Amino acid sequence: MAASLIDGKLIAAEIRAEVRRGADELRRTRGITPGLAFILVGNDPGSEVYVRSKGKACEELGFRSVTERRAASCSEHELLALIAGFNADPAVHGILVQLPLPRHIDEQRVIEAIDSRKDVDGFHPVNVGKLVLGIPCLRPCTPAGILELLARSGNDPGGKHAVVVGRSNIVGKPVFNMLMQKQPGANAAVTVVHTGVKDITPFVKQADIVIAAMGRPRSITGAMLKPGCVVIDVGMNRIPDPSAKTGTRLVGDVDFASAQGVASAITPVPGGVGLMTIAMLMKNTLQAASSSSGI
Ligand code: NAP
Repeated sequence: MAASLIDGKLIAAEIRAEVRRGADELRRTRGITPGLAFILVGNDPGSEVYVRSKGKACEELGFRSVTERRAASCSEHELLALIAGFNADPAVHGILVQLPLPRHIDEQRVIEAIDSRKDVDGFHPVNVGKLVLGIPCLRPCTPAGILELLARSGNDPGGKHAVVVGRSNIVGKPVFNMLMQKQPGANAAVTVVHTGVKDITPFVKQADIVIAAMGRPRSITGAMLKPGCVVIDVGMNRIPDPSAKTGTRLVGDVDFASAQGVASAITPVPGGVGLMTIAMLMKNTLQAASSSSGI
């Protein structure tokens, strides 16, 4: 039987509707409108698209948003001053510096300059540390979205064996840390594999839940999966496709066609994890705005 689809579009829409209700209530009861500041350095077309869609999400949810654009030649000093201004601005509850930054700017220094209470990307070491310790914090959006997908599709990871393929700071490590917490919606046994593991197949084969976050198109095939497992495909890879208008196509890290016949549930690409990231960013911004008023 073919796997059921875990519908990221539907679940992201549910979360946005909840965030909208939360924002309306915050405005009504405390007079606070969540505010998000975007900083975009350079003119990377991909980053432009992301910032535009995040700005649109703010509009739809009634958030305030401001975008500061700087040329690629912008100095680190100027960027840090911009961040300091937003840190001090009470109308700004979330600060998002679109990554990657030009090479002459130290990305880590920039992340650490953001007030951790406004770090809606969840990349600041204070939030990373709290995540590891199981203390409530602003959590990275894509991994938090993965946990929402599992919970809302009825695939509770509690007591299951999850195998995470990839150990990046933005996906693999945080999703590992979230899944292993002794908390509802988590509480899984978690294995992480990466390029240091010669053959990942025996690990993936044991997984009740596979989280593929490697950035390698269609690398996890149906033959590598345990029958009935749940597959979350984080990969977003553009591959050539002469039949497509643009000449390229977006595919995941999982070979959807073969995996669909083995798994019990799977996220499509596009239409899965990718749609969750902005929804979770909005949720984090609402959380930061609520915390600013002591909620
Ligand atoms: P990354 O920083 O390049 O990290 C990739 C990880 O996968 C590394 O830990 C690497 O291992 C591991 N890896 C690579 N090839 C492997 C292989 N053949 N076998 C086992 N492990 C392997 O990538 P990322 O930022 O985590 O992103 C991963 C994918 O998710 C990308 O396709 C990206 O576009 C996508 N993504 C999507 C969203 C979204 O949907 N919103 C957000 C973020 C990322 P080593 O550590 O040993 O090098």
